[in-house]
Amino acid sequence: MGAHLYEEIRRGIADPARLFIETPTGRRITYADAFAEAGRFASALRALGVEPGDRVAVQVEKSPEVILLLLGCLRAGAVFLPLNTAYTPAELAYFIEDAEPALFVCDPKAKGALAEMAQARGVKAVETLDAAGGGSLREAASAASPDFADAMRGPDDLAAILYTSGTTGRSKGAMLTHENLASNGRTLKEIWRFTAHDVLLHALPTFHTHGLFTATNTILLSGASMLFAPRFDADEVMRLMPRATTMMGVPTFYVRLLQHPGLTREATAHMRLFVSGSAPLLAETHQAFSARTGHAILERYGMTETNMNTSNPYDGDRVPGTVGFPLPGVDLRVVDPETGAPLANGEIGMIEVRGPNVFKGYWRNPEKTKAEFREDGFFVTGDLGKIDARGYVHIVGRGKDLVITGGYNVYPKEVETEIDLLPGIVESAVFGVPHPDFGEGVTAVVVAEPGAAIEESAVLTALADRLARYKQPKRVIVLPELPRNTMGKVQKAALRERYADLYT
Ligand code: ATP
Ligand code: MG
Repeated sequence: MGAHLYEEIRRGIADPARLFIETPTGRRITYADAFAEAGRFASALRALGVEPGDRVAVQVEKSPEVILLLLGCLRAGAVFLPLNTAYTPAELAYFIEDAEPALFVCDPKAKGALAEMAQARGVKAVETLDAAGGGSLREAASAASPDFADAMRGPDDLAAILYTSGTTGRSKGAMLTHENLASNGRTLKEIWRFTAHDVLLHALPTFHTHGLFTATNTILLSGASMLFAPRFDADEVMRLMPRATTMMGVPTFYVRLLQHPGLTREATAHMRLFVSGSAPLLAETHQAFSARTGHAILERYGMTETNMNTSNPYDGDRVPGTVGFPLPGVDLRVVDPETGAPLANGEIGMIEVRGPNVFKGYWRNPEKTKAEFREDGFFVTGDLGKIDARGYVHIVGRGKDLVITGGYNVYPKEVETEIDLLPGIVESAVFGVPHPDFGEGVTAVVVAEPGAAIEESAVLTALADRLARYKQPKRVIVLPELPRNTMGKVQKAALRERYADLYT
């Protein structure tokens, strides 16, 4: 026995001398190193008073130490709780109060400003880690023993609490168990064909599920390695790519790579797989990438609460604009959002999922947990979508982004797709804001291609015979870019706020 997820990782590594993480500066960490470091971090955590079940809140820059600390938390039976580096001190105070961690790990530069706030909220110890992996926690771990008697943690024990991205409202703490993470990593390894010979180009942040779990757990359970870039930079990614076999990214990565002259068929010929997720990948980006490189990006769909739910196939058609099929072991259905009755293929409704990947509930929020689960165990994702005749899942947007205008439902994606087809337009975002006559007015912001002059009236005219009248935007606003967060998610709540008075 031991700690469920950690044990599975450890037992799966046939040759501990193999590389696990390499950084662009040439630092190399083998699996043997990682296991010993995890022991040191676990010993240090215990010495700081962290007991099994305690939360360890971590707001630090990306470095291999984040992953070593995660492994240390698993061994110590602690609950890893990463926090977005963009959170302000005021936001942090909320998360610390909500999570009540025993230990808070922050950047050395922030400690002066945060330590008192954390201690006032019951945090026992405040330690540091910096972007180079140094800091007081690193020092404590280096001085501690690699030998550690692992805490007993079963499949249903908490491994992590991950706050959602806060796209639709205040971030919620998702309680993820050892088996939620292990089952998903196991499945992804299988369906995406990872082996110990793979090298993943990792340029994602480590505070979000995509970089922290989807990428890292798949690698850990395959015994493969990661080229660990501190952040996404197109030049740096193109420089590292010759040494990688696979990459996982958000759509923005692919958009930026397409702007890079180095992205060619030759430069990517040795790559086995490009995966995209966390936000919708435009079909146009998918097509441009395959025209340039010959690679069909594999798009998949997941969320903080559920890990990955669906994926386009490894073999077979990776259909642009779809997120593929439910993963093995994951039940997915589309239902009427009001009644919960299952809908026929092709009909748009609420996506619900059930499986070993689905979280245990929202941290200290039993009402919200109750509200988002059906009696038969399905989790209500909040995403609207449909299943097509071939079984591919399509996401048409979030329930909260649905526009109801004059009593009609308008799915923003349908309008965005039409707008994006117009010449001179790169992309768009459609949302609803209060309208005195219609309740909500369909509103579009568009981004023009460099050098293209986009006129509101021309867009409206072009849409007039493409969309039913109630779906047509009442206003079209040209913006230099769409507001996005680091995961490439368009911030529609911010747009709704910004244009709240447009029709009043
Ligand atoms: P919050 O729940 O706090 O509002 P969030 O839902 O953006 O924030 P995450 O858990 O990071 O937080 O994101 C999950 C969501 O991302 C999904 O529910 C879905 O809306 C979106 N998503 C993920 N992958 C895809 C994809 N391939 N295509 C479209 N949407 C996707
Ligand atoms: Mg969400």
